[in-house]
Amino acid sequence: MNKSRKKDFFNKVFITNNAKETQSLGENFGKVLRRGNVVCLYGDLGSGKTTFVQGVARGLGIKKKIISPTFIIIKLYKLKTQNSKLFYHIDLYRIEGSKDIEGLGLEEILNGKESIAIIEWAEKLKNLMPAKRIDIKFLYEKENVRKVTFS
Ligand code: ADP
Ligand code: MG
Repeated sequence: MNKSRKKDFFNKVFITNNAKETQSLGENFGKVLRRGNVVCLYGDLGSGKTTFVQGVARGLGIKKKIISPTFIIIKLYKLKTQNSKLFYHIDLYRIEGSKDIEGLGLEEILNGKESIAIIEWAEKLKNLMPAKRIDIKFLYEKENVRKVTFS
């Protein structure tokens, strides 16, 4: 895929046959993101969300390897591309109630017009979920196959 645009993803379903393919999908998608964009990811453990974010980070020009540290909920990366200076990778897996969510200062991040944010387990945002966002659902099909749906 060369020079992708947002509309190449909107309302589309992708089947990936291994982790690398999910990363390249993420990489292509990362290139179309602009400041102010909020991307919400949904799907069970192991469905490929973090793998996808690794690709997104690469597409945004981040050289560091994105990991999923167990105790870090919000990870901030500096950007040199995309007209945006900051990229937030948020993983709400460990968050339990709305009480936990409230202390994270997510409102600012999610409504900020300068940064790009991607959130795993975004359904946990509940009322903090911004109306204007990109939703991506991850489904485990079989061992190496995942279905990725953009809306
Ligand atoms: P999540 O963040 O949704 O819990 P991860 O991305 O951390 O999921 O884990 C997905 C796991 O599944 C990884 O070990 C990855 O190597 C493996 N995998 C196998 N096939 C795929 C695929 N097509 N897409 C993404 N991950 C895959
Ligand atoms: Mg994850």
